[in-house]
Amino acid sequence: MITPFSINLRMASRAMLILVVVLWSITAVAARRERLINNWRPVNYNVAITFNDQLSEITNARAEISLLTLKDKVSVIDLDFGELEIDSITIEGRAAQYERESGSLRVILAKPVLQNTRLVIVVSYHGKPRDGLILANDKAGKPSAVGDNWPNRVHHWIPSLDHPSAKATINFSVTAPARNVVVANGKLSRVETTANSTRTWTFNEAAPIPPYCMIVAVGDFAELQPAQTSVTPLAYFVPQPDRQFAMQGFAPATPSLKFFSETVGPYPYEKLALIVGATRFGGMENSGAIVFSSTLFDARPPGSDPISRTFKIRSSLVGLVAHEIAHQWFGDSVTESTWSDLWLSEGFATYFAGLFIQREDGEEAFQAYMKNAGEAYLNYAKRTETPLHDTETEDLFKLLNPNNYQKGAWVLHMLRSELGDKAFFNGIRDYYTAHRDSTASTEDLRAALEKASGKDLRAFFKRWVYGAGHPTYDLSWEWMLKKKTLKLQLKQTQAGDYFPNSVPVEITTPTGKHRFVLKPTGKQTVQEFKLDGPPSLVSLDPANTVLKEN
Ligand SMILES: [Zn+2]
Repeated sequence: MITPFSINLRMASRAMLILVVVLWSITAVAARRERLINNWRPVNYNVAITFNDQLSEITNARAEISLLTLKDKVSVIDLDFGELEIDSITIEGRAAQYERESGSLRVILAKPVLQNTRLVIVVSYHGKPRDGLILANDKAGKPSAVGDNWPNRVHHWIPSLDHPSAKATINFSVTAPARNVVVANGKLSRVETTANSTRTWTFNEAAPIPPYCMIVAVGDFAELQPAQTSVTPLAYFVPQPDRQFAMQGFAPATPSLKFFSETVGPYPYEKLALIVGATRFGGMENSGAIVFSSTLFDARPPGSDPISRTFKIRSSLVGLVAHEIAHQWFGDSVTESTWSDLWLSEGFATYFAGLFIQREDGEEAFQAYMKNAGEAYLNYAKRTETPLHDTETEDLFKLLNPNNYQKGAWVLHMLRSELGDKAFFNGIRDYYTAHRDSTASTEDLRAALEKASGKDLRAFFKRWVYGAGHPTYDLSWEWMLKKKTLKLQLKQTQAGDYFPNSVPVEITTPTGKHRFVLKPTGKQTVQEFKLDGPPSLVSLDPANTVLKEN
């Protein structure tokens, strides 16, 4: 997803900052505790939801959870569930005992079961969710209901195991007023007209998806389809006032789907719906049903954003559409194993949106995109010393930071420079194929890139991913006339250990420009290069391939 960082900054008032510093000093050494998947895992959710006429409440809902036990002697299934009122719970068709406390629903089994036992729990409930499913009017004042679950808010409307790695398939059956359109993950299998001017829409998502990507969207949508065929059935669902903007605004969708399919692997889902509606993010990458903020097509101050050469819309809109679509591969299909691996979702979506811009709008637009990303990270790095692989931050929303987005993108960009395009993209494709419809860790990515390139990347990952910060370089040189040799000395002046990645230099002599690569082995590196004449200019990292402080 994309989140407006400026809002996050505004929230950090001075008083808050003091509190944060105090809390940080207490909790700094504690690793974040994540929701564990140790006794059972969900296999499929079959969720039927009926809304009232004004979409202000769930009249009744029924979640059928098929699960598998992972151990012997499992006696309780601990679901995550919010505040909605429970009408009944059954296990294998029999009424079950349960206990509720804040955010959790413990369903007691009649007797302990063995490992690999398949169980079906059915929870019937109703009410108005406090979060996760946003029941609010759209920008035209029409009632709407839109799921918005990142990072762990789906349990406010679906009893579930609410951790990204607990992926499952899902079927939605949504009954809503006949005047409304319903969209959800997966293939629409049927629409039935039911009693009292309502319709029931049934969707099946056959690929396992992370719980934060499970959504329904109900509203007075205008539905549009692009003229060109795409790699998957593609449609836009927008509030009526946005009808006039959708075709041009979403124009990057078809070529980006094609580009990512060719670069990474086949599109992972049955269809793609691009929806404009309620989300607290700029865009939210729900599998096959992306939701963009209601302000997506609103006018911006003139000159606030460059215009895309290819699409004739704001570059940031091109980047946002491509970012959310890239997530269908990275984040949705290959899901981060833990929250510490979030950069495998956000860093990838950020970088692949950049690669799409490079392809469509050219090298200059891509360089500007990466430069902006670098600056956003460097500004953030002035205030924090947290590793990209962040095992400590407790507030998951605070993980939506320039480390996971922009630094993550830069780490991929540097790996690409380090390995070369062929090995890098082969490694990415292997990584994607091996973990498609499943989860991956940072170590899985390292292993795939090492296999594709034959290089040992432990030192690179240790410094760039598991460590904090970035290099600050100081390059000096000496021309040794007799030996016709240039001696280059590269110092890394940042705190902490050295960064092991290669650093290109470009030397200008009377005969032209010469490229060399410095290979740091410590905080100070000295290398000598034969040259035909004295240098008139020595320039460090001329193509801007290393994230660094200048
Ligand atoms: Zn994202």
